[in-house]
Amino acid sequence: VVIVGAGQAGFQAAASLRMEAYDAPITLIGEEPSLPYQRPPLSKGFLEGKQNVGNVELRPDAYYRDHKIDLISGSEVIRINRANRSVELRSGQRFPYETLILAIGSRVRKLSVKGAELDEVCYLRTLDDAIRIRQRLETARDIVVVGGGFIGLEVAAVARSMGKSVAVVEAQSRLMPRAVAPVISDFYQELHLGHGVQIHLATVVREIAAGQVFLSDGSAHKADLVIVGIGVLPNVELAQDGGLTVADGIVVDEYLRTEDSNIYAIGDCAQHPNPFAGQSTRIESVQNAVDQARCVAANIAGRGEPYRAVPWFWTDQFDIKLQMVGLSGGSVHLVTRGNPTSRKFSVFYFKEDRLAAIDSINRPGDHLVGRKLLAAGTALTPDQAADERLDLKSLQQQA
Ligand SMILES: Cc1cc2nc3c(=O)[nH]c(=O)nc-3n(C[C@H](O)[C@H](O)[C@H](O)COP(=O)(O)OP(=O)(O)OC[C@H]3O[C@@H](n4cnc5c(N)ncnc54)[C@H](O)[C@@H]3O)c2cc1C
Repeated sequence: VVIVGAGQAGFQAAASLRMEAYDAPITLIGEEPSLPYQRPPLSKGFLEGKQNVGNVELRPDAYYRDHKIDLISGSEVIRINRANRSVELRSGQRFPYETLILAIGSRVRKLSVKGAELDEVCYLRTLDDAIRIRQRLETARDIVVVGGGFIGLEVAAVARSMGKSVAVVEAQSRLMPRAVAPVISDFYQELHLGHGVQIHLATVVREIAAGQVFLSDGSAHKADLVIVGIGVLPNVELAQDGGLTVADGIVVDEYLRTEDSNIYAIGDCAQHPNPFAGQSTRIESVQNAVDQARCVAANIAGRGEPYRAVPWFWTDQFDIKLQMVGLSGGSVHLVTRGNPTSRKFSVFYFKEDRLAAIDSINRPGDHLVGRKLLAAGTALTPDQAADERLDLKSLQQQA
């Protein structure tokens, strides 16, 4: 097996193959120079200086030797040759494969305004990006964060906790607009405002000049550091050049196989049929990367099962943890359990009266039960969700 991309999904595919007792050679090829690492801490504990490089690495060096995983770091795969089943590195080196797993992830979307190329403008995707931002945070005083999604808000929370002046600029009329219900956006707006973060909604950056950011609402912000978090684009070019079908991601079937039965695609780069979305979708999360890798490893080991893991996600901002389970997009009926003023509540999302997702703030119990209810397809009515006297665990036990 050759795995291209040594991120969360690529690493897990190699590790899971060995756990499946797959004993043929595994080559894991990654463009980044480091050992495979996890990205979530890069906008949380690592950025704050509470974790170091060793803490974010998925395994130490010895793991790869002990498990006979041939890890080739700092090497970009530039071509897939499907006719003779091999991949080619930029160095010209070729690796033959019987099975190829594409785990090539995504890359940041770039800001395209005047001044976006200035040195003080940073993006956060890789360990090197995080090291650079961490260094800049030591001396920066005024920070503008472009994008009020998960990464932008996590970075804003860290920077504000370090005593920096922070302004968040979000193009939509509320925070995390694509991911959560308005009640949760409002909660996070209050949270950030309460900590002294300035927030500009329905506003875009017009121009960045040395030391200043000009916004569409006419205001100008002092900024010696601009951190941009406006989403990612899936890496599809390698697959596309190899003649594979791509859309918003590399298109795979329910077994995560491309139209070439020897090639799989997993993680951020894969557009897959997802029973919780009711259609093909692409998901950017650790859960998705890990579970898709496990699914493919099981398929290669001959235990073929379609991918149907329950999607879940989390974000940490200040002292608040938001845990999300299911896919809430397209939900029409929303029920709040608990009270936002208590800083402990959950939003239950329903599509056609079926539970679709639960977002929980400081209510890990709801999240854990939710994972089980959604996995089992247990019926839950909006009235039941709203009724605090009903113990959700009892439904789970009945199921
Ligand atoms: C700052 C940050 C915070 C996050 N926080 C959370 C969180 O709290 N919770 C959560 O669930 N998710 C979070 N995520 C998202 C999560 O980390 C990603 O969804 C996950 O890493 C996807 O794994 P992947 O293996 O598909 O892609 P990646 O981790 O991006 O790995 C892909 C790898 O492939 C390499 N590659 C690409 N092309 C080639 C090539 N041609 N040749 C060789 N190598 C190649 C890339 O360099 C990269 O190392 C966060 C992401 C970031 C950036």
